[in-house]
Amino acid sequence: KKLNVPRPIKKLDESVVNRIAAGEIIQRPSNALKELIENSLDAGATNIQILIKEGGLKLLQILDNGHGIRREDMAIVCERFTTSKLRNFEDLLHIGTYGFRGEALASISHVAHLTITTKTADSNCAYRACYSDGKLVPPKPGVAAEPKACAGNIGTQITAEDLFYNVPTRRKALKNPNEEYARILDVVNRYAIHNAGVGFSCKKQGSTQADVNTLSTASTLDNIRQIYGSTTSELLEFGKTFRKLEFRVNGYISNPNYNLKKMVFLLFINHRAVESSLLKKTIESVYTTYLPKNTHPFVYLSLEINPENVDVNVHPTKREVRFLNEEEIITAVGDAIQERLVGANSSRIFLTQT
Ligand code: ADP
Ligand code: MG
Repeated sequence: KKLNVPRPIKKLDESVVNRIAAGEIIQRPSNALKELIENSLDAGATNIQILIKEGGLKLLQILDNGHGIRREDMAIVCERFTTSKLRNFEDLLHIGTYGFRGEALASISHVAHLTITTKTADSNCAYRACYSDGKLVPPKPGVAAEPKACAGNIGTQITAEDLFYNVPTRRKALKNPNEEYARILDVVNRYAIHNAGVGFSCKKQGSTQADVNTLSTASTLDNIRQIYGSTTSELLEFGKTFRKLEFRVNGYISNPNYNLKKMVFLLFINHRAVESSLLKKTIESVYTTYLPKNTHPFVYLSLEINPENVDVNVHPTKREVRFLNEEEIITAVGDAIQERLVGANSSRIFLTQT
């Protein structure tokens, strides 16, 4: 029998720690893209163009017209916990940006080949640099790892290639590029709808036709129409403020005349795309009295909750947020939707089946 003795405890190499952490934040191409879109929005972009190859596993590229990255910051931009957005912990109370932890670019650089090309307004040229494991690397052997001057417009282009090339188990688990592309489109659709004033496009490399294409001049309703087609004549505008619970909700919800095989639920809390199965269930149950059996609504909701009541730092992908009075707020939203549907019912004439 083998002697049961403990093995010595050792500190993990930083590169191992970073790769493990990266795998938590970047679970699949769509998580990486979400982080990149949020960075572009944080940079004040009004135009975001996305190019995808093999569901983002081969290539994930995003081009924006935001404020760019300063030349002097390019050496550390992909290190873990480097950020221009948060200075001290208290800033988290009223954080106005999507990012705050400085982990996204670092994480991506630990699991993909990352290239950044960027230009700020006061620089007379763009700079391009390649990154691996958080650090600048030469674009090819024998060349300096320094950012290299090149031509380019104001803004930033980020290219992530061969995602999970060094995490074989993850790479193997993601074997369906079509499914990954569908998830990518879902992320782009959500952000495109929620960010009227920002034009989005997303296409597969080699394709002439974009799968998402919204204009920076379009309204939210235009964007919903563009992305979800004919639903919009059946949408009710919806909004209500709750002083005591310190939140407001607005959005567009489908009326009782419209239904889908599967619910479309686009939820934003303080402008972050998030999920809430409890809120989804509550809304579905409100609609059951209005919709035929086994059919579902379209619901786009933007909840703005007093930031002091929201904890965005509970999930590595920030997909979940926690907030104060969660149950009360969810009940209140359900009741408000109910009210809106009743209102819609009485203000229109129904065609009854004969
Ligand atoms: P965070 O967003 O939490 O700050 P990231 O790793 O996502 O961390 O980005 C690190 C920093 O790189 C950001 O704080 C920002 O200054 C800069 N940055 C990243 N993407 C862009 C972009 N598209 N445009 C301008 N600056 C960017
Ligand atoms: Mg970020």
